[in-house]
Amino acid sequence: MQTIGLLGGMSWVSTQLYYREINKTIASRLGGAHSAKCLLYSFDFHEIEALQSSGEWSTAGNVLGDAAKALASIGANFIVIGANTMHLVADDVERISGLPVLHIGDATADALVAAGIKRAALLGTRYTMEKPFIRERIERHGIHVLIPDDADRETLHKIIYAELIKDVVRQESREDVLDIIERLNANGAQGIILGCTELELLVTPQYTDVPLFRTAEVHARAAALRAI
Ligand code: GLU
Repeated sequence: MQTIGLLGGMSWVSTQLYYREINKTIASRLGGAHSAKCLLYSFDFHEIEALQSSGEWSTAGNVLGDAAKALASIGANFIVIGANTMHLVADDVERISGLPVLHIGDATADALVAAGIKRAALLGTRYTMEKPFIRERIERHGIHVLIPDDADRETLHKIIYAELIKDVVRQESREDVLDIIERLNANGAQGIILGCTELELLVTPQYTDVPLFRTAEVHARAAALRAI
């Protein structure tokens, strides 16, 4: 089995989901007492968020790249960046660490293709929705990606940073996100990409009939399958 190098703490709330899903997948595939070989580097998200909001992406790339290099030096075989937004610096992470990054956009696209989805809407942070690094990566797999309008992007970004990264889950915010999902579905989105790894705490299939693609879940599962 290969050793997963997980860059986590972005936020710690979703890193829990990764750790659980990675281990559950390996246990169910290999049986017995099997679990993942996994090295976790968990950031203080305050520091990462400060670099995001000041647009210091190249410093952020060095910070994540150095952490990935440290994981490489103690045996990681590949890197999993446990967040959508920080895939903006995935190329830096690969370059500095010398290890391949298992891209969240590819794992998500594989799940969309398997479900026969041709048009999907991408929900996430403003960075994820407004910059091309996730959208274009998914579109490479032949899927058309819709982006919410400006007001909805603002709502989503606020809910993520003011609530979800702090493990705060509010019914009012859930209703706001469900409302956005219903409108995107009415505008032709056959599926919804929960393109922020905390969104799956707020919205699950019990609340909507629109197919949901949970990026933490699909990414963690892909990491486990790659490791074995
Ligand atoms: N975990 C989130 C994501 O998937 C948001 C936090 C961050 O900006 O890294 O994008």
